Amino acid sequence: MTLKDLGIGKSAVVKSVGGEGALRQHFLDMGIIPGTEITVVKYAPMGDPVELRLHGYELTLRLDDASRIEMENAHAPEKGEEPEEASREDDHPGLGEEGRFHQKGEGEKLPEGTVLSFALVGNQNSGKTTLFNQLTGAHQHVGNFPGVTVDRKDGPIRGYPNTSVTDLPGIYSMSPYSSEELVSRNFVLRDKPKAIIDIVDATNIERNLYLTMQLLETDTPVVVALNMMDEVTSNGGSVDVNAMERMLGVPVVPISAARNQGIDELVKHAVHIAEYQEKPLKQDLCAPGDEGGAVHRCLHAVIHLIEDHAQAAGLPARFAASKLIEGDQLILDQLGLDDNEKEMLEHITLQMEKERGLDRSAAIADMRFRFIRRVCARSVKKPGQSREHLRSQKADRFLTGKWTAIPLFIAIMGLVFFLTFNVIGAFLQDILASGIEALTLWADGLLESAGVNKVVHSLVIGGIFEGVGSVLSFLPIIVTMFFFISLMEDSGYIARVAFVMDKLLRRLGLSGRSIVPMLIGFGCTVPAVMATRTLPSARDRKMTILLTPFMSCTAKLPIYGFFVSVFFPGRGGLIMIGLYVLGILSGVLTALMYKKTLFKGEAVPFVMELPNYRLPRLRNVLQLLWEKSKDFLQKAFSVILIATVAVWFLKSFDFHFNFVEDSHSSILAAVSGFIAPLFRPLGLGDWRIVTSLVSGFMAKESMVSVMEILFAGGVKEVIGTLAASSLLVFSLLYTPCVAAISSIRRELGHKWALYVVLFQCLFAYAAALIVRLIGLIF
Ligand code: GDP
Ligand code: MG
Repeated sequence: MTLKDLGIGKSAVVKSVGGEGALRQHFLDMGIIPGTEITVVKYAPMGDPVELRLHGYELTLRLDDASRIEMENAHAPEKGEEPEEASREDDHPGLGEEGRFHQKGEGEKLPEGTVLSFALVGNQNSGKTTLFNQLTGAHQHVGNFPGVTVDRKDGPIRGYPNTSVTDLPGIYSMSPYSSEELVSRNFVLRDKPKAIIDIVDATNIERNLYLTMQLLETDTPVVVALNMMDEVTSNGGSVDVNAMERMLGVPVVPISAARNQGIDELVKHAVHIAEYQEKPLKQDLCAPGDEGGAVHRCLHAVIHLIEDHAQAAGLPARFAASKLIEGDQLILDQLGLDDNEKEMLEHITLQMEKERGLDRSAAIADMRFRFIRRVCARSVKKPGQSREHLRSQKADRFLTGKWTAIPLFIAIMGLVFFLTFNVIGAFLQDILASGIEALTLWADGLLESAGVNKVVHSLVIGGIFEGVGSVLSFLPIIVTMFFFISLMEDSGYIARVAFVMDKLLRRLGLSGRSIVPMLIGFGCTVPAVMATRTLPSARDRKMTILLTPFMSCTAKLPIYGFFVSVFFPGRGGLIMIGLYVLGILSGVLTALMYKKTLFKGEAVPFVMELPNYRLPRLRNVLQLLWEKSKDFLQKAFSVILIATVAVWFLKSFDFHFNFVEDSHSSILAAVSGFIAPLFRPLGLGDWRIVTSLVSGFMAKESMVSVMEILFAGGVKEVIGTLAASSLLVFSLLYTPCVAAISSIRRELGHKWALYVVLFQCLFAYAAALIVRLIGLIF
């Protein structure tokens, strides 16, 4: 029987794990190893993927992948944990380890003035970024779904000027599975931080310790930060920290990053182990007595075999040995073994597989989990059913329920847009707009009465106030939109959307994970493009990046607002929703085309953890809103202001630098008139429209400020409703702004960035033309 056939609510024990390569390693690293009990929680509304519970956490994977996992011994789920094998504390120094690691405090202190560098390493969503913010006072983005942090960030610990902590993307194991995970592994192995702060989510301790096991092997000082202790204790659980320290051989500090508890103690320990270079006392997790000791013998034989190679390559021997046995090609290449040694390695490993009755990767994973079970049996009192988990289960009955999930998703998105455009955002916008208007009138009167030069007057009122002011009034709508997106991120809902939508996205050749960047893309394309780094295959990433520009970003809202107020008053909501839908449909169409041409083949497997729902922290939300407002204001007063002034200048003077009353004879009219004919088929052949489109490439919002200046309220005399519709469609779809393009260039390189510009422009042109043709027929 395979996991696919298990049935909802049933449990069974893993017999063997099929598949190959990185995916199989990933399964093992996530705890799917022979002997593990897995319970099927539910299927996604469309029947695929499936949600599982194992090692006390929720994981989703696709049925195709589930069918590769052989199960046996199906039964109803057992209540509570079965008693583990008798715990035992073994201090057995392995081959070549005797006396190599000093006891606490006896080591030499690093020379004064050495910068103590720390790496924050831990599973995805274990609270690394929250801790990083606490330690450094930074405001990095925190969210409740796996894969928020996609790049490293550094900063000194507050109060310890000679330190530097690095926040890293989350990893489940030192076998990297996606591109951002490689960043973390390389940081630990190559940058050689002075110490590692290993964040362990205490509510999910077994799986989290799996990474700890591998960190211990890296021969770097480690301190374990047991995070989320607030949730553990409030549910009646506890951890015997001393027992855990004894068994792991490294300091363990219970903390709650979100509540700022235990952080000072953690810092003290971290600084101490880094200063004295206190390496883990125990790196040997295998024991001669385990299952006949085959793994133990194999590991130590391999350590012996490669020790000098590892030293030469600057890799910790024990770490390199276990990775070699798992079949890690990167490490194999780095070590440069000769053929003889490679053969020997293979021989030793085969022997172990035969004796152990498990293949190499599974045997190593099993050894680690075996040790973890012993640690947990000894030191962890598991809470009963946690409140957070119960709450999540209740919420998920609806939010990922078979019949309710999709209607609720649509309703939630609908509500977000409705509240943003029609209620909260619009309300705030009205207030701000009338404030700006009053200010403009006041300034106008002031300049008038002071008898200021007419050119300057025109610059201040017709340029700056009209232009920047028109953009500024959109701040509330944009911030409201970001507020809702951040609620979805912080609560953990966004991970559910990925689960629910996976099957649908698979038809487009993508995986559920791609929905996360796309939803973020409704806010801004730049972070959306960054977010694609969590996608485990290059193909999925590329495709997702190329599709994000179709998600209409908030910067386009002012454009829609401008045209709606002029051409479609009272029908704003309908037009906005229509545009968003059109964007999404165009994206779908393009995806289908890509699937047939550029990106043939299947999306990679979808394996993702579903975190418990959490109440968004007010501080995080406010922080995000503040950051977004700041960004927006900065943009308004830099790019947009400059564009506005430049456009004002070019439209106010002719080639002889004479101030012109009629902008038709200005420099701008002459230059833009050049490209304008291109847009004539769309009914948009006016040079002023062309100018605003060009400036929209700098920043979309500036399209509005430019139009305000150039038309001074008279758009309606220049284009009709049909042309306005074409223009709306064109602005929705044409090239994303410079900032977005440069982030695409960072991810995919010059060629693809250029491709996006050209493709989006052509696509937009075609779509706008179709709108016009349809309009002309009816
Ligand atoms: P990362 O992915 O490891 O960087 O994790 P984040 O720092 O983004 O945090 C993931 C989630 O866990 C967020 O929703 C945090 O608010 C939450 N969180 C972090 N630390 C704690 C904690 O100590 N207690 C509780 N209850 N939640 C926490
Ligand atoms: Mg993070």
